[in-house]
Amino acid sequence: MKRRNFFQASLGAAGAALASTSVQARPNLEPAPQAVGMLFDSTLCVGCKACVSKCKEVNGMPPVVMGDQVQSDFALDLSPQTLNVIKVYKDGAAAQKDREQNGFAFEKRSCMHCVDPGCVSVCPVSSLTRDPLTGIVNYNPDVCIGCRTCMTGCPYNVPQYDYNNPLGQIHKCQMCNQKGVERISKGGMTGCAEACPTGATLFGSREALLAEAKRRIALKPGQVYQYPMGDVRKPARFHEKVVPQYQGQVWGEKEAGGTNVMHLSAIPYDKLGMPPLGERSAASISEGVQSTVYAYMGLPAIALGGLSWIVRRNTEIANHGEEDKS
Ligand code: SF4
Ligand code: SF4
Ligand code: SF4
Repeated sequence: MKRRNFFQASLGAAGAALASTSVQARPNLEPAPQAVGMLFDSTLCVGCKACVSKCKEVNGMPPVVMGDQVQSDFALDLSPQTLNVIKVYKDGAAAQKDREQNGFAFEKRSCMHCVDPGCVSVCPVSSLTRDPLTGIVNYNPDVCIGCRTCMTGCPYNVPQYDYNNPLGQIHKCQMCNQKGVERISKGGMTGCAEACPTGATLFGSREALLAEAKRRIALKPGQVYQYPMGDVRKPARFHEKVVPQYQGQVWGEKEAGGTNVMHLSAIPYDKLGMPPLGERSAASISEGVQSTVYAYMGLPAIALGGLSWIVRRNTEIANHGEEDKS
């Protein structure tokens, strides 16, 4: 075999490997065909925590108590006992609601049910899965091995590991649709949306919620609007309120590939603790890198295949030459 043929075969093999790499690197996942979600409008939230209590009732979790005060839940953050929490932003004198300076605002934290979920991507045993129809991100404790990798794959710090449980399980909101709850598959809505007295937490299809969020952003500040409550597709009631000056962005429309739980706010989202995220999901990038690594791992095999073919062809030519002479 000539040295020039060897280099040609190697380059051809490398090209084939690179071509296969670009095919395997994937874009963000699209929303599920019948994606459901929630819209949390911070400007409607009054901090009553009815959503926190209802979430605990639906999920059979105990309240976080302070002393002998058991009337209210004192959870300050997500935990294995708290899947949904209301947090408060405060600045200066905290004199006015939904003001960045000298103001305050409420923020609801729970699983965002990402369109392209990092937790699902990194889970080595598929304990976390995205429902192909609704996009709800569910957790199966029966297959979880307690490795906690999902905690590093989530940009919102949502999965909570129960260190006090010898079986070591993860806890996170499953949009009230896990085994034994199944509110959504039975045509209902999430507990938090049902309990919310102002429509700050609204349930519905992702498509209808996104349209509602954009409608609100387009409203004129100061005008009165009838805010739907419960399920945006069939609101049982409306909450009349003056429209604030919204941020011009629906959080979750595009961030890290989008989320099924979206947020609206009058103050910048980073003040509410949202992380700095681009539009590309971490899952699409990391899975692209993995496919690149695997493609390069295949390169020697492809190169060897090319060399074998050339050697075989040259051998056949040489044999034919010998036959012709005889
Ligand atoms: S917010 Fe975190 S836990 Fe929830 S789906 Fe997204 S990555 Fe998973
Ligand atoms: S959807 Fe259900 S589990 Fe999730 S925060 Fe709301 S009430 Fe809690
Ligand atoms: S129930 Fe509604 S208004 Fe009350 S804290 Fe929860 S989101 Fe806010």
